[in-house]
Amino acid sequence: MPQHGLMSTYSPLPVSFVRGEGVWLYDNNDKQYYDAIGGIAVCGLGHCHPEVTKTIQQQAATLVHTSNLYQIGYQQALGEKLSAVSGMDACFFSNSGAEANECAIKLARLWGHEKGIEIPEIIVADGAFHGRTMATLSATGNHKVQAGFAPLVQGFVRAPFNDIQALESLAKAHPNVVAVMIEPVQGEGGIHIASDDYLAAVRALCDAQGWLLIFDEIQTGNGRTGKYFAYQHLNLMPDVVTTAKGLGNGLPIGACLARGQAAELFKPGNHGSTYGGNPLCCATALTVVNTIVDNKLPDRAQWLGQRLLERFKSELAGLDKVKEIRGKGLMIGIEMTESCTDLVKIALAEGLLINVTADRVIRLLPALTTTDEEAETLVTKVATLIRSWAV
Ligand code: PLP
Repeated sequence: MPQHGLMSTYSPLPVSFVRGEGVWLYDNNDKQYYDAIGGIAVCGLGHCHPEVTKTIQQQAATLVHTSNLYQIGYQQALGEKLSAVSGMDACFFSNSGAEANECAIKLARLWGHEKGIEIPEIIVADGAFHGRTMATLSATGNHKVQAGFAPLVQGFVRAPFNDIQALESLAKAHPNVVAVMIEPVQGEGGIHIASDDYLAAVRALCDAQGWLLIFDEIQTGNGRTGKYFAYQHLNLMPDVVTTAKGLGNGLPIGACLARGQAAELFKPGNHGSTYGGNPLCCATALTVVNTIVDNKLPDRAQWLGQRLLERFKSELAGLDKVKEIRGKGLMIGIEMTESCTDLVKIALAEGLLINVTADRVIRLLPALTTTDEEAETLVTKVATLIRSWAV
């Protein structure tokens, strides 16, 4: 039965937070919690970052919404800033990550139709997570997400992650492919990192086949992996990149960025959103992007991520139940040899917020603004938790 008037889409933990500051959250008894999951990679600047709060307050008191029937100065400014940061040409703003991916999927289909392909197909990866709308859950490589929602949206072809030969075989078997959509690091799937060689080979294959390369950077974007976007670790550009989460630091905004011909596919009437790109979310996101760039927070994420990996490896060395510790920037996964979902509740009681994904991977997504001292607190808390669990 639904409780308290809500549909049962989540099983929330028995805690409710009433305020936050930086990496800390406080419940209604004023108990303090270390937030190592940051609203699932959303609060890259920590909770209630002063600059972000100031922008929200000022803009909320000035103008919240007008609709896209009129020009929106902050939307234009954010589009120009994100294009400059990413090297892309143009943006479409949505309210969530799934919607940003819907936009990318529509671009890929238009791309196909323009080439005379009537039933275009997009290659997606095993273990991928692209969202919960009908198209994005169909693109997602997880049967649990899809169960009960058939018929799924057609037009997706599944390939193993990090396997270029499989992609080359699909290219031969599927003449209607128009794009590849991929996460540079699979977050929900369990912190699986696409290799540099693989991504370079995918780019080359897309060029050879005339396919669009779409990177889903909903989770990896906005500095989290150590560059503003994860593809910037490599000497290559996608044709389309989507982001959300850390872009608004908590306000709902997503973006689909495109370059070259992909940026010119939509014509007025092809796509839209009532709220997407509104003054409040765009002014806030502009402050977020400026804060990330001006304070060189991607560099900080890179350095701190490396240090955290080393610290976790040394603190957890020799524990049989720890299978692998991996990460890119501040996307860190500690994989156990067995299911460890019970750790979430044990950690909560200890004042630590973590997430377990793919059943046995502890996922840590700390704020990019985490201080050295706070990082050490995180290591101590997580290592103590795992040591007492792994006995
Ligand atoms: N794509 C990726 C890689 C994600 O991690 C997520 C959310 O976890 C989504 C898409 C969906 O984003 P949203 O929940 O904002 O719709």
